Amino acid sequence: MTRYAIGLGSNLGDRLGHMRAGAMALEELGLTAFSAIYETEPVGGPEQGPYLNAVALLEADLEPAELLEHLHRIEAAENRVRQERWGARTLDLDIISSDGPATDTADLNVPHPRAGERAFVLQPLVDVWPEAPVGAGQSAREALAGMSDQGVERLVPDWVQPLRSWKGKVLVGAQMALMAVIALVLVLDGTLPTDGFRPVQVPGGLLAIAGAVLAVTASRRLGPAMTPFPEPTDSATLVLEGAYRYVRHPIYGGVGMFFLGVSLFLGSVSGMVLSAGLFLLFHIKSTYEERLLRVSYSGYRDYRSAVPRRFVPFLF
Ligand code: ATP
Ligand code: CA
Ligand code: CA
Repeated sequence: MTRYAIGLGSNLGDRLGHMRAGAMALEELGLTAFSAIYETEPVGGPEQGPYLNAVALLEADLEPAELLEHLHRIEAAENRVRQERWGARTLDLDIISSDGPATDTADLNVPHPRAGERAFVLQPLVDVWPEAPVGAGQSAREALAGMSDQGVERLVPDWVQPLRSWKGKVLVGAQMALMAVIALVLVLDGTLPTDGFRPVQVPGGLLAIAGAVLAVTASRRLGPAMTPFPEPTDSATLVLEGAYRYVRHPIYGGVGMFFLGVSLFLGSVSGMVLSAGLFLLFHIKSTYEERLLRVSYSGYRDYRSAVPRRFVPFLF
């Protein structure tokens, strides 16, 4: 048995779908582990979209050359076309490293000759096999230690199965519970002044109205793609218009502004503190959600740079 580390990469079409198909096919060759998925700006080659990268470990009774044939067959099944060098591709499978003797032939070099200088290979490799030899007597861990992260970002650990996790359910449960508690606190703790008007009622009222408008217009824009769960639905497409041109999470922003505004209006300090907590929870939830959006939509990385605000237009 030889242990092999296989690098997977995709930056064309349904990237996650190609990565999953690759992982399923590797399963039949003796898959023992796979890394998280990382997203990476393309390095070298022509102008092209960002890559998803991961590493899989195999335990296989195969010679390196036989394994490479299998990898080419799996790439071809995902309609891999080789045109320009380092150009965009649906699926790229490379033999990165093995615990067998090094291979150095015309069409195969193991360890992969460029593995030791590529953070997008080394980061996922260290997830599953930190001691993997990557050339020049170095292990993956050692090679990575002396290197900048090269814009490689870890997205999701469990990607071979559909993106549904307990984490999403816990976050939705916490959100619902916190919103119910705030509503209850406002009913019990909030008061309308009987002795006339309080100055904070003006910004409070305006904030509540602005929040309601933001949340309602954004949820109408989202239409059937809307779900309380952070995982995108299979049929969803990315919505980038309307309120989504100003903030990436207008519904969360609007709901938070609404609760904060009503708390101000009713003069409830506990309501304000809990509303701040709701923003914090939305921050955690949207951070998780954005990793899933990035793994599903190659355009999300650019959208995030173009729209830097998460919740409140022009502010934060
Ligand atoms: P890079 O090798 O820099 O990652 P690439 O993956 O885009 O570039 P490909 O067009 O996929 O390059 O592969 C070109 C050839 O590289 C393959 O046909 C194969 O013969 C050869 N090759 C050499 N060593 C390896 C290896 N360890 N794994 C996969 N292919 C290899
Ligand atoms: Ca490659
Ligand atoms: Ca390749």
